[in-house]
Amino acid sequence: MPNNFIGPRILSLDIETSPVVAHAWGLFKQTVAINQIIEHPRTMCFAAKWMHEKKVRFYSEFEHGPEVMFHAAHGLLSEADVVMHYNGDRFDLPRLNSEFLIAGLSPPAPYQSIDLLKVMRKNFGFPSNKLAYITDRLGLESKVKHSGHDLWIRCLASDPKAWAEMGRYNRRDVTLLEDLYEKVRPWIKNHPHVGLYTGEPDCCPNCGGVDLMRQGYALTSMGRFQRYQCRGCGTWSRSSRRESGVGNTQIK
Ligand SMILES: [Zn+2]
Repeated sequence: MPNNFIGPRILSLDIETSPVVAHAWGLFKQTVAINQIIEHPRTMCFAAKWMHEKKVRFYSEFEHGPEVMFHAAHGLLSEADVVMHYNGDRFDLPRLNSEFLIAGLSPPAPYQSIDLLKVMRKNFGFPSNKLAYITDRLGLESKVKHSGHDLWIRCLASDPKAWAEMGRYNRRDVTLLEDLYEKVRPWIKNHPHVGLYTGEPDCCPNCGGVDLMRQGYALTSMGRFQRYQCRGCGTWSRSSRRESGVGNTQIK
């Protein structure tokens, strides 16, 4: 992290997990009982990147071992103001929390979360919200192609070449997350207000830019508020100062 960095520390994060290994009695419509589990699923590796750094971090059970890997994840989350991910609210973050609990770690310091999958679902109507599909449609650099399930099997067998491939795949995903974030940032509602971190309250809440165009008014039940659009990123915002109120009359 550069010493002169001002702003929210945004961490993009992506984990990869191992499959459940279990005894099954058939191939279709199987219910696997807990006592049929041979190996529980676990976090095999993760990649993370601070938005204001070039370096992409990659930790794996193969290279670092679980203890170092989970302490690193815990440390990064604790340093972050905002953690950005794709379906991480449902998948990556609870999975990591389970690993922390198993490892006897306390909760990481609180952070805010931006789940880009939720942003896609809420704002757009793409036929698929898979990250590979979305990034392709938006003309972003494509995901690293991998050899599918076979890659996971080879990683579980500690194949160094497979781990190198997994590392490339996992690292690319966090840089893609940043690219996607730049594209959809003006669509993100309730983005953590960048001005709270930069100390510049009259800025674009989503990017911190100060070049704001006056663009009409927001009329609410509380009154009239100046509305702005950021020239930098296109985010709409409005002043928190009321220009004219609605008096004391209330609709009953
Ligand atoms: Zn902006």
